[in-house]
Amino acid sequence: MRLSTLSCLLSTADSLSPRPRVVVSGGTHGNEYTGVWVLQRLQLRSAELAEQHPSIAIETLFANPPAHAANRRFIDDDLNRQFSAATLADTTASSFEAGRAKAIAADMGPKGAAADAAVCIDMHTTTANMGCTVIVSSYSTLALRAAAFVHTHWDDADEASPPLPLRVMVEECSQCEAAHLASVARHGIEIEVPFVDGADADGALPGAVVAASLQDRDFAPLRAGEALFEALDGSLVPYDGSLGEVVHPVFINEAAYYYRESGRGVGMSRPVEWPVL
Ligand SMILES: [Zn+2]
Repeated sequence: MRLSTLSCLLSTADSLSPRPRVVVSGGTHGNEYTGVWVLQRLQLRSAELAEQHPSIAIETLFANPPAHAANRRFIDDDLNRQFSAATLADTTASSFEAGRAKAIAADMGPKGAAADAAVCIDMHTTTANMGCTVIVSSYSTLALRAAAFVHTHWDDADEASPPLPLRVMVEECSQCEAAHLASVARHGIEIEVPFVDGADADGALPGAVVAASLQDRDFAPLRAGEALFEALDGSLVPYDGSLGEVVHPVFINEAAYYYRESGRGVGMSRPVEWPVL
C-alpha cells in the first residue's frame, strides 16, 4: 500500500473539526498482511503524523489479531460482515468475530452519524486484478470527497514510480445496512491494494520492503548506493555493491521471495556474454 494514498486521505480528514478521531485499521482479514505492516509503520511515525496533522487524532486499530496470528481470514466468521446495525444488536451471535465487532463498535461508535470516531480508513488487500481501489459508501459525502481528492492527485503522488491504476467504487447502501468495519465511524473508507503475502513462515512481517523507485524495473541496472529497500521507519537502504558495482534486479516484489527461506523480495542478476558456438 502506498502511504501517499493514506496521506491524501488524512489530509482530507484534516478539514474536520475539532480534533476528531481518525482510526486507521488493518488486519480486519487476518491473512492480509499489507495493512498490518502499514499499521506498524504508522505507529513508528506517530509523532511525525501528529505534527503533520495537528487538527486530527490519528489512531491505529489492529482489528483481528487472533486471525492474523493464525494466518487465516477469520477465526469463525468474516469480521468485515459483522457491522450492520442489526448484526451488532444481535445478542445471540456467539462467534469470535461477532464479539470482536461489538468491542470495536463500542470503542468507535455508537455506529453512525453520532459515532465517537469521525473517520475510519480500513486497509485490505485483494487477489483480484483490481489495481488499487478506494471503496466508499453513498451515505458519506466526506468519504466521496476524499476518494475524489485521492483520485485527482493519484498520478502526481509518487514521481519515483508510475502508479498502479486507481479506481473508486461507491457502494449504494445506508449506514445502518452497511456491514463493513469502516461503517461504524461517521465516515468510512476502505482501501484495497494488490495482495502480497509478506509474512515469513512463522508469521513475522518483513523489516523492509522493496524501494518504490525499484518497482517494475526488472532487468534495469541498479548501481551501488541506489535505493534497494525501504525500512519500516521509511528510511531507504541502498544497494551495497556486494554483488558488483552494477546489478540487474529481477523478480522485484515477487511474493514468494518474502519468505526467509526463499529470499528478500528481489533477486539479482548480472548480464554475461556467451561465446558463439
Ligand atoms: Zn480484506
